[in-house]
Amino acid sequence: MTGRIPFRQKDPQTFSPEQLVAARKSFDFTQARESLLIWYGHVARKLPWRDPITPYRVWVSEIMLQQTTVSVVTGYFERFMARFPTVESLASAPESDLLKLWEGLGYYQRARNLHRAAGKIVAAGDFPRTRDEWHLLPGVGPSTAGAIASIAFGEREPILDANVRRVNRRLLHVMEPPEKRDILDQLWAISRGFVALPGRSPGETNQALMELGATVCRIRVPLCHECPLSGYCLTSTLSLDPNLPAIKKSPRKKVFRTALVGAPGDDLVLVVRSEGRFLEGLWDFPGEVLDGEPAFRGEGRILGRVSHVYTHIEEEVLVVEVPVPGKDYPNARSFFGIDEARSVPLTGAAKKILKILENGKKGDIRHV
Ligand code: SF4
Repeated sequence: MTGRIPFRQKDPQTFSPEQLVAARKSFDFTQARESLLIWYGHVARKLPWRDPITPYRVWVSEIMLQQTTVSVVTGYFERFMARFPTVESLASAPESDLLKLWEGLGYYQRARNLHRAAGKIVAAGDFPRTRDEWHLLPGVGPSTAGAIASIAFGEREPILDANVRRVNRRLLHVMEPPEKRDILDQLWAISRGFVALPGRSPGETNQALMELGATVCRIRVPLCHECPLSGYCLTSTLSLDPNLPAIKKSPRKKVFRTALVGAPGDDLVLVVRSEGRFLEGLWDFPGEVLDGEPAFRGEGRILGRVSHVYTHIEEEVLVVEVPVPGKDYPNARSFFGIDEARSVPLTGAAKKILKILENGKKGDIRHV
């Protein structure tokens, strides 16, 4: 399945590339924004970071929402605010507390950057205000900076996250690859067109654009019949193909390794991933990378296999029961049992391995 929308243009002869350029130039941002905001007033979802709106809550939510959907983020956001209600509480917490809370949300660099940025904000004595000031903080890119400055401070700054980029491309039918500098500039200019005009809140406008991309102008099938911009959108009004050229993704790297879980009755030994390594700051079982398919020839009993998919890597892990001298591993720590091991931030694979051990405990594989 390609995920592409079957498309046949109604009348391919009715406009030329020159007419498309002219149509882009005459796009009516004032009226389009009006329609967009009326629609948003009716459909805006009640999301925890929208009530109340504060710089801290907007900043945390925007970082969490990078590469992650609203439905996944909601629960994490509420737990985060309960645990770190202020930027001071976040800055003074150990990084491992934050990573524990972030467990399962992925892209852990975001959490580490959030922690570093919290320290800088506390040291500065106040939150940044402008887009340029926000952009100086770790983990805050130009679109995130624009979102925070506009939503939390009413600055007339544009955004261009993945959802808004898709809306803009279809709106003015800019189908060339957005990685090209001049195309990206065109897409930013569209976003700027919505917020630069006086009147109407830039924060509301940006949120409305994000909402439109997430719920109506969807990746696979845009719901043009529900769209407040359908009367302005060139893809819709000129019956053009809404399919965006497919992005070629490089395949995930497959990695095979062992995880050594210790002998029955022994403490569990875990090692923390060191600085600069993939999944830095998370804990996992020691072991070694295998060449090719897991075929373990050393001593020990194989308890099972787990596989876990990360963004760029797919891991297949052979779980081996064998004595593990913690002193053999740098960054190692012994844990009395499964519950204690679960108190630290764990990799996805380590969490699955603990489940195997827990089930084994019931089946008398392991006595912890
Ligand atoms: S009319 Fe359709 S393609 Fe155009 S912005 Fe709306 S949902 Fe997207």
